[in-house]
Amino acid sequence: MQNNWQQLLQFDQKHIWHPYTKIPNPLATIGVQKTAGSIIILADNRELIDAMSSWWACIHGYNHPLIQKAMHKQIETMPHIMFGGLTHQPAIELAQRLIKLTPKGLETVFFSDSGSVAVEVAIKMALQYWISLKQPDKKHLMTIKGGYHGDTFATMALCDPDNGMHHLFNNSLTKHYFAPKPQLGFHIDSDNQDINAFKTLLSKHHQTIAAVCLEPIVQGAGGMRFYRPNYLKQISLLCQEYNVLLIADEIATGFGRTGKLFACEWANITPDILCLGKSLTGGNLTLAATLTTDVISQTISQGEPGLLMHGPTFMANPLACATAIASIDLLLSSPWQQNIQRIETHLQQTLLPLKEESGIKDVRVLGAIGVIELEQDNLGEKVQAYAVENGVWLRPFGNLIYTMPAFNIPQQQLHKLTKGIILAVKKALSEYIEQN
Ligand SMILES: *Cc1c(COP(=O)(O)O)cnc(C)c1O
Repeated sequence: MQNNWQQLLQFDQKHIWHPYTKIPNPLATIGVQKTAGSIIILADNRELIDAMSSWWACIHGYNHPLIQKAMHKQIETMPHIMFGGLTHQPAIELAQRLIKLTPKGLETVFFSDSGSVAVEVAIKMALQYWISLKQPDKKHLMTIKGGYHGDTFATMALCDPDNGMHHLFNNSLTKHYFAPKPQLGFHIDSDNQDINAFKTLLSKHHQTIAAVCLEPIVQGAGGMRFYRPNYLKQISLLCQEYNVLLIADEIATGFGRTGKLFACEWANITPDILCLGKSLTGGNLTLAATLTTDVISQTISQGEPGLLMHGPTFMANPLACATAIASIDLLLSSPWQQNIQRIETHLQQTLLPLKEESGIKDVRVLGAIGVIELEQDNLGEKVQAYAVENGVWLRPFGNLIYTMPAFNIPQQQLHKLTKGIILAVKKALSEYIEQN
C-alpha cells in the first residue's frame, strides 16, 4: 500500500468517528479507493465482493451508469434549492412514483434526509394527529421487541430494549410499550401466542397509545428476524379495532428486498404511515420519505396549529430526488423479482445446510437476505477478517453473520460470495472449538 494511504488511515483512526467505534479506533478500518458493480476495490488494490449492499442501500450495485447519468444531469441543472416556498420537478415526480407504488391509500409524502428522521417525522405525524382530534392522552407508542428504528432519541426509544441502548440512556428516553418478539419464522403456522400477548398489552393501554411502530416481516438491525405475514395482518386489524395508528418502517425492506416491492404486501395491508429510506436512491445519496393517508394529512392540517411541525434544511434535495427517480425506474425496468428469486434459491442451497454444524444456532433466508446466527456472540470480528481474506466484504454484528447482496450481482460473484462466507464461518468456529 502507498505510504500516503498509511498516513490517511492513521489520521482516520485518531480523528474520525465510525459507526459504533471509539477513538482511537482499535479495529483495522480498511481504506477503499473505488467501487464497481458488486466489487469494492481497496486501497491496496485488493478486490472484495460486496455482501452488504452498504447496509441494504445499494440494490443495483455501485456506480450504475443509468443512475450516474441522471445524477450528472441534475448536478448540471440544480443540485440543491430550499424547499420552503419553492418546489421542483424531481420532488414532484418522485412523490408521484412513491404514491403509485406503495400500498393503496398512502397519498402524501414528506421528504427528509435519513431513515431515523423519517421515523421521527412518522412519530410526529401520529402525535399531531391525535392532538388535532383533541385526544392528547394518546401520546405513547407501542412496538415489538427485537426492532430497530434508528439512532436518534425518539427512535432509540423504540429499539429493542435488551440489545438496544435503553440501559445506557435510560434516564433520557421516553418509555413506550413493548410487546414480546414475534415468533421467529416466515413460514411457520403459529399458535398465535405472540398475537395474544400483543392484544393483551394493546387492549389494556390503547387509550394512551398514539401508534404502533414496527418493521414489517423483517426485523433488521435489531436481530435479523423474519416473522409470518399473518402476524402483521393480525396487528393491522388490532390497530383498527383499538383505534391506534400503524407505522410501518420499511427503511430496510422497501424496494424489493424481501421479494415483494414492499414487505407490507406480504400481509396485504396498508399502514397509516410508511417510512422509506436506505435503498430509496439505490444507495447513492441520503434521502428518506414518510408517507401517510389523506385522512391523517387533513386532520393534522385542520387541527392546532394547522401545520405539520417539521422542515429539514435539505428537505427534498433535488439531486437526491432525481437519483431516487432513476433508481426506481431502473428497478422497475429490471427483472428484479427473478433476481431476488435467484439469490434466494442460491442462499437457501448454500447456507441452509450449515444448520447442522455445531456452533450454529440458526440459518434463515428470505428474499435476498441470508442470515447465519452463531451460538457464540464474540466471533463476528474473526469471521469478518476471514471473509476479507477470502475476498468478501462482510460486516457481522454480534453473533449475526448476514448478507444482502445487490439484486443484480452476477451469479459467479454470488457463488464466490457464499463460498467466502461459509469458509470464514467454518474457520472461526473450528478455531473456537479447538480453543475451548
Ligand atoms: C437503517 C434503519 C433505520 C435508520 O436509518 P438511518 O438512515 O440510518 O437513520 C431505521 N429503521 C430501519 C428499519 C432501518 O433499517
